[in-house]
Amino acid sequence: MKNMTFAMIKPDAVRNRNTGKIYDRILTSGFSIVSAKLLRMTKSQAEGFYDVHSERPFFGELTEFMSSGPCMVLALKKENAVEEWRKTIGATNPDEAETGSIRKDFATSIGENAVHGSDSDENAKKEIGFFFSESELIANK
Ligand code: UDP
Ligand code: MG
Repeated sequence: MKNMTFAMIKPDAVRNRNTGKIYDRILTSGFSIVSAKLLRMTKSQAEGFYDVHSERPFFGELTEFMSSGPCMVLALKKENAVEEWRKTIGATNPDEAETGSIRKDFATSIGENAVHGSDSDENAKKEIGFFFSESELIANK
């Protein structure tokens, strides 16, 4: 069954003019875009989104970065969307990311790593709900 995951093109990738190239990867990897928008998170929105990492040493830097400029948020659809999108983006650290993965090709560091992907179906649902209302998701569900 096709299901959804949540993806983000992070501020570094938008700033570096890689949005179009990453969109192309999304589509050629077989994902459908259910919904997408460009927005800039406030610091407190970024803190809310990355709440699970609030005790980690990089939390301040991460939420500064994520609120530093616009990012593209997307709801994506495919068979096994969560796992497939994690494979497409590659490891968190670009030095460890697989050849051909988005992070290998577009990330500049472990922090500024171009894209986000949900790590479970449960978190995908939560993260999609963080940014999209039901009416924004119906077009291509
Ligand atoms: N991050 C960081 N330093 C680290 C680990 C993670 O700045 O040592 C940032 C990075 O932007 C990463 C995000 O925090 O994408 C969330 O971390 P997570 O371990 O959930 O990695 P992801 O799920 O994004 O691969
Ligand atoms: Mg994660």
